[in-house]
Amino acid sequence: MAATVIDGKILSAKHMEELALRVKKLKEKGITPGLAVVLVGEDPASQIYVRSKEKACNDLGLYSVVMRLEADLSEERLLVEIDKLNRDDKIHGILVQLPLPKHISEDRVLARIDSKKDVDGFHVENVGKLFLNQPGIVACTPKGALEMIRSTGVPISGKEAVVIGRSNIVGRPMAMLLLNESATVTVCHSRTRDMKKYTQQADILVVAVGRPKLVTADMVKPGAIVIDVGINRVDGKVVGDVDYNSVKEVAGYITPVPGGVGRMTIAMLMDNTVSIAEQEAQV
Ligand code: NAP
Repeated sequence: MAATVIDGKILSAKHMEELALRVKKLKEKGITPGLAVVLVGEDPASQIYVRSKEKACNDLGLYSVVMRLEADLSEERLLVEIDKLNRDDKIHGILVQLPLPKHISEDRVLARIDSKKDVDGFHVENVGKLFLNQPGIVACTPKGALEMIRSTGVPISGKEAVVIGRSNIVGRPMAMLLLNESATVTVCHSRTRDMKKYTQQADILVVAVGRPKLVTADMVKPGAIVIDVGINRVDGKVVGDVDYNSVKEVAGYITPVPGGVGRMTIAMLMDNTVSIAEQEAQV
């Protein structure tokens, strides 16, 4: 039987509805959650992501600032702009769109964001909290992927989970979230030998690599939950890392690309922004 599709459009729309109610409550208290997105340079993919973040803010009635800065700006100047946003009371969340131009240190820039305004959850303080299983701000993509797994109603505790990819923004936090949910977690990466040996055991398989058709049907355990984080452009079309058509015949649940994790990422960004404003307002 073909897998149940975990529809990111439907799930994110439901989250946005709930968020709209939380925003309404905050506005009644005189608080409008504010998100600042900092975009350095003109990377076409980044421009698209920033526009969708801006749209989500508008849909929810958030205060939204997009700071577009020239690609050759110095790191010092970018840090000055971050400091200004850190001090701005109207801004609850600050997001620096990655990647940054090569002459700027992403580590130094992310460390400069006030950890309480770190909506992306990339600041070492928030990463540390996730590692220690303490409440903090969690990176939007893995947080959204976890929501998609939860939406199946299948308990995570005790399950075998495999995450392919170990980046700081997706793979590592994803593995930590699943561990915190008491899954038994294996992380695969470019040096993993015989990846199939691991993926075939996975009740939950999260793929975050950036390679079309990396995961094929023979690698998937029948009935598994397959979450495809990948975004690749092939012949003008957006595809994930999972060979969707073949894998959906084996998996129990699967996320599509587009219309999957990407949608949830945006919803989680809004969720993080609203949560920070709620904390400030002590809602
Ligand atoms: P990344 O920083 O390039 O990391 C890719 C990871 O994949 C690395 O850990 C790498 O291993 C591993 N890898 C590379 N080739 C592999 C192979 N053949 N087998 C197994 N593992 C391999 O990428 P990222 O930022 O995590 O993003 C991953 C994908 O998710 C991309 O397609 C990106 O566009 C997408 N993405 C989507 C969203 C969303 O909202 N849907 C958000 C963020 C990213 P090593 O560490 O050994 O190099």
